[in-house]
Amino acid sequence: MRWFYKCPECGAEYGIEPGRYLCGACSAKQEADRPLAGVLECAWEGRFDGGPDDIPLPVAKEFLPPLPVGDTPLWEPARLRDETGFPRLFLKDDTCEPTGSFKDRASYLVAGFAKERGITEIALASTGNAASSMSGIGAAAGLKITVFLPRKAPVAKRVQVLQYGAELREVDGTYDVAFDQSLAYSGETGVLSRNTAYNPLTIEGKKTVSFEMVRDLARAREHEARRAGHLAELPKKDFVAPDHVFVPVGDGVIIAGVYKGFEDLVRLGRIQRVPTIWACQAEGSSAIARALAAGGFGAPVPSDTIADSIAVDVPRNGAHALSKLRKYGGKAVVVTDAEILDAQKELAAKAGLFAEPSSSAAWAGFIKAKAGIRADETVVVMLTGSGLKDVAGAMKGLGL
Ligand SMILES: *Cc1c(COP(=O)(O)O)cnc(C)c1O
Repeated sequence: MRWFYKCPECGAEYGIEPGRYLCGACSAKQEADRPLAGVLECAWEGRFDGGPDDIPLPVAKEFLPPLPVGDTPLWEPARLRDETGFPRLFLKDDTCEPTGSFKDRASYLVAGFAKERGITEIALASTGNAASSMSGIGAAAGLKITVFLPRKAPVAKRVQVLQYGAELREVDGTYDVAFDQSLAYSGETGVLSRNTAYNPLTIEGKKTVSFEMVRDLARAREHEARRAGHLAELPKKDFVAPDHVFVPVGDGVIIAGVYKGFEDLVRLGRIQRVPTIWACQAEGSSAIARALAAGGFGAPVPSDTIADSIAVDVPRNGAHALSKLRKYGGKAVVVTDAEILDAQKELAAKAGLFAEPSSSAAWAGFIKAKAGIRADETVVVMLTGSGLKDVAGAMKGLGL
């Protein structure tokens, strides 16, 4: 199996090498205040020799850091199923990743790549979770991590960075300023950048969630048949695709990773088609939803939402995510901060799952969109970050 980077825009191919981030020709057309141009995808050709449950990745397994990332539980929330009337509703719980967020899936692959190539330092900008994630994964891997973080990031995420022993450079300004500063730092020093979307491995690392979903939905289908007493008549299936997946969206990297996972699964013959993916955005940070409706990205609107992890003015992976949404008939749903806080409370109080506001946007999105979905369809809502990461946000929801 041969791995390479491929530009989904112009088809140019590049080796997967440190220092290669964007497509040369397409990134030259970058416009100010617009999503990154020339975002690359990890591509492969040849035969995949892995086992039936294995995930093809561009980094050899032995270099992946020694901590348990991924393989997160797929919940079957009985009370929420009853209340919503969706008996095949599932929650994919990434709040229990080692550092408490979905970002670990990306950090894990980037750290593995660094180990494979003998790289000792990684730098990045973040709104909080990518920083705490890379710091924790880097600690396990023995890598130096330098993070550029806006001063207003939630305190728990800052404390995580420091506990994990990373170098914290606080930025007076937004994530967008931190992004530029971290790129300048990587440019001057040659340090590997884990900036989201900019480093294609961040997208590739996130695809693992789709592989887990189709495997665990097949197991859930078997359990369901066993409970109902007709396991014997059930045709055997190792993989079951969901009909709908609800994803919280800021920069658009998670959603692109989810798509990449389903694309690979179709190509490997494990599932027949890519599910309907719902991009769930906060009203105060809805650039991708607006672009899907308008047919392209306009001037940035300053973000304003309680959901800090999905608050972005210019979604870095916006163009790439938009092209996937268009190609596969994906949809967008926009929710208010009040709906997000209600969703957070409902998930905690009725499922026992305490997710941070950005993550709860996916549940709020499902609640808003469910009238248009058949109740017998299989729905997975992705919960991407722990509620303990932003206690101040949760307090607002409680009126404290
Ligand atoms: C980063 C993040 C998101 C959004 O991911 P994007 O790739 O920026 O769209 C959602 N939820 C949590 C908890 C996150 O940390």
